Amino acid sequence: MKIVTLLGAPGSGKGTQAKRLSESGKFLHFSTGDMLRKAIANREPTGLSADVFIKRGELVPDQVMIDLVRSAVRVVPSTSNVLLDGFPRTLPQAHALDSTLEIRVTAAVFLDVPGSVLLDRLTGRRICRKCGELFHITFFAPRKLGTCDKCGGDLFQRPDDQVDVVSKRLEIFAGQNSMLLSYYFESGRLTKIDGNRSADSIQSDLAVQLR
Ligand code: AMP
Repeated sequence: MKIVTLLGAPGSGKGTQAKRLSESGKFLHFSTGDMLRKAIANREPTGLSADVFIKRGELVPDQVMIDLVRSAVRVVPSTSNVLLDGFPRTLPQAHALDSTLEIRVTAAVFLDVPGSVLLDRLTGRRICRKCGELFHITFFAPRKLGTCDKCGGDLFQRPDDQVDVVSKRLEIFAGQNSMLLSYYFESGRLTKIDGNRSADSIQSDLAVQLR
């Protein structure tokens, strides 16, 4: 059983790569952001308490996240490989994975993208309401404005991708990330990948790293 976590700033391409890896069938994909958005849409207590933090661009408290991941991974067969996307985001979450959650990360892959690129990527991101496909108003524009090329669904901007919230998210990420990188580096589990390239090039690198 491989437990891989994709580390990287909001907008570093974790979600895109995680989706591609899970489509290969080799990993079960757990995105904590997606889990929270689903819990909000279903008006579950966890979602309602998390919503306030997400709207402000802040991190949801560690214990809420640890409990959420605990219940998600509980049902994973011991033969499956797991890909974590968006977790851990803090050192206490990383410690919890290795100890209380008993799903010790085997590899932490950091998608390294310069800060100046991240702001443009996030504020221009648009998502299909129906199938979840990702677009960008400049770098990967849909053929028809506001409409998904794949399924014809409406495209929307995540409320937390608006410029003031994005700046807050990037600031918080910078504050936590160096500690996380040191933690995985010191335990010999960290790999860095240049995330400022095409999604295809990154995918090829990842496939080699995770073989
Ligand atoms: P994401 O889709 O991964 O960018 O996550 C969206 C938002 O969900 C983040 O800005 C946080 O508010 C919250 N979130 C997701 N994962 C975590 C986590 N591991 N710890 C704390 N908050 C999280």
